[in-house]
Amino acid sequence: MVISLDRFILAEGQFELPKHLECIVCLGPLVDNVVLCKNEHAVCRGCFEAMRGRGMVKQCSLCMEKIDANNLSSSKVIIRALDEYE
Ligand SMILES: [Zn+2]
Ligand SMILES: [Zn+2]
Repeated sequence: MVISLDRFILAEGQFELPKHLECIVCLGPLVDNVVLCKNEHAVCRGCFEAMRGRGMVKQCSLCMEKIDANNLSSSKVIIRALDEYE
């Protein structure tokens, strides 16, 4: 699925998004996301890979919930919300 991000862009590198649709690390849109915790806090794929590279996939940086690195998924709801967001 290709989602156009044009409508979210305010200026170079700046997005205007509801909080639950943005990455908790870089604040970019969660098009390709990884859900970290049972509270469904999510980061984008790029941030997730960076976190994993630094061995930081242990607890959610928002709620401090433990991250089960063997049981991660992406949120289809977030992707759908982004797709429908006007
Ligand atoms: Zn990110
Ligand atoms: Zn969390």
